[in-house]
Amino acid sequence: MGKALIIGAGGVASVAIHKCCQNPDVFEEICIASRTLEKCDAIKNKLAGSRTKIQTAQLDADNTDMVIELIKSFKPDIVMNLALPYQDLTIMDACLATGVDYLDTANYEPPDVPKFEYKWQWAYRERFAQAGITALLGSGFDPGVTGIFCAYAQKHYFDEIHTIDIVDANAGDHGYPFATNFNPEINIREITANGRYFENGAWVETPPLSMKKEYDLPEIGPKNIYLMYHEELESLAINIKGVEKIRFWMTFSDNYLNHLRVLENVGMTSIEPINFEGQQIIPLQFLKAVLPDPASLGPRTKGKTNIGCIIQGTKDGKPRTYYVYNVCDHQECYAEVGSQAISYTTGVPAMIGAMLMLKGLWKKPGVYNVEEFDPDPFMDALNKCGLPWQESFSPTLLD
Ligand code: NDP
Repeated sequence: MGKALIIGAGGVASVAIHKCCQNPDVFEEICIASRTLEKCDAIKNKLAGSRTKIQTAQLDADNTDMVIELIKSFKPDIVMNLALPYQDLTIMDACLATGVDYLDTANYEPPDVPKFEYKWQWAYRERFAQAGITALLGSGFDPGVTGIFCAYAQKHYFDEIHTIDIVDANAGDHGYPFATNFNPEINIREITANGRYFENGAWVETPPLSMKKEYDLPEIGPKNIYLMYHEELESLAINIKGVEKIRFWMTFSDNYLNHLRVLENVGMTSIEPINFEGQQIIPLQFLKAVLPDPASLGPRTKGKTNIGCIIQGTKDGKPRTYYVYNVCDHQECYAEVGSQAISYTTGVPAMIGAMLMLKGLWKKPGVYNVEEFDPDPFMDALNKCGLPWQESFSPTLLD
C-alpha cells in the first residue's frame, strides 16, 4: 500500500518499526533514518526476513535540506517523526517542500526554552492545507490515545463532557535506583516544569508536583498520582467542546521523586550551559549520558502500565461517568518486540496513525490533533494491534 520514512531509531521508533513490519500489506517499504546509522541498521537486522522492505539512512533531521534530499530520493507517502520534539519543525518544513504527509508523537519544544506548546506547529495549518497534505500531531499514547479516548467518549457516550482526568500509571520496576522510561532529557524537563490544568476557561498553574492524590487503578492497585501539565491538555481544551475541567495525573514512586529532588538541588537537571574544563556542557544532557539508556530497560522491567481517561458529563440530560483505559504488561511487550511498555504504548499508536493515513481513512489537508479525526477505526486498531482497552461506567472519581 505505501512507503514510510521513519525518522529516529530510539525506543519508540524501534517499536513502531516492528509494528509496521507486522502489517506489511500497509507498510510495503520503510526507510529508517536517524543520526546514528548503526542504530538504524541494528533495527533493520532484527527484522531481517520481514515482508516489509527496509532500508536505512544516516540523517541529521535538524537540517531541513538533508531531510528534503532524503524524501526526494526515497519518495515516501508519509514521514513518521519519531526523533525528538526539537526536530518537529525542520521535518514539517521538509514535508511542505516535498508535499508529503507528516506524523509525530510529541509537540515542538525549543531546545533552549523548556515550554512545549502547539502554537508553533498549529501555525503550519494553512500551509499544509494549501499544499493538500495532512499533519497528524501527537499520535503516541499521551498525547495520542488519550485524545482518541476522549473523542470516542464524546462520539458514543456523552452529549456534554464536563470533566476529564487523564491518569498515567507506570507500576513497572526496572531494578535501577533511578532511570527514566523514555528520553531522560525530555522526561525530566516535563516533570520539573510547573503543573497546569484547565478550569472554567482558564489555565491554573501549580508548583511542580505539588498536587497529589491516591488512586486505585485496575490491575495495578493504589498509587500516588501527581498533577502535571501535559501537552494534550492544550488541544483537548479546544477540541472537546464545552469541557470545563481537564487535568493530567502521573504516578511517581517516592524513590523516583527523592532522586529527582537531589538531582535538581545539585543543579543536574538545569538546561543552562555551564563551562566544564574549558567545554560548554548542559547539565541535563550530561545527566542523560550517565543514566541508563531507556532502551536497555526492556529486559529488566516487570509490572504493568495503566493509562486512561476518567470522564464526567451528561447524556440525555442525566449525569454520566465513564472510564476508558489500557493496561500494558512490560514483559509481554519485551517478549513481542524487545522493548518495555513505555516505548510500546507510544510506538503502537504511531504505527496505527500512519496506517490510517496510508489507508486514506485519516486524511484531510491541514494540521490536526488526533481527537479531530473519527476515533472508531483507531479504537478498533488498538484492540487488534496490542493495546486493547477496557471501559467502566462506574469508576471511582478523583474528587
Ligand atoms: P530516544 O532518545 O530513545 O530516541 C530518539 C531518536 O531520535 C534517537 O535515535 C536519536 O538519535 C534520534 N535523533 C535525535 N536527534 C536527531 C536528529 N537531529 N536527527 C536525526 N535523528 C535524531 O527517544 P524515544 O524513542 O524514547 O522518544 C521518541 C519520541 O517519542 C520523543 O519525541 C518523545 O518525546 C516521544 N514520546 C511520546 C510519548 C507519547 O505518548 N506521545 C511517550 C514517550 C515518548 P541518536 O540515537 O543518535 O541519539
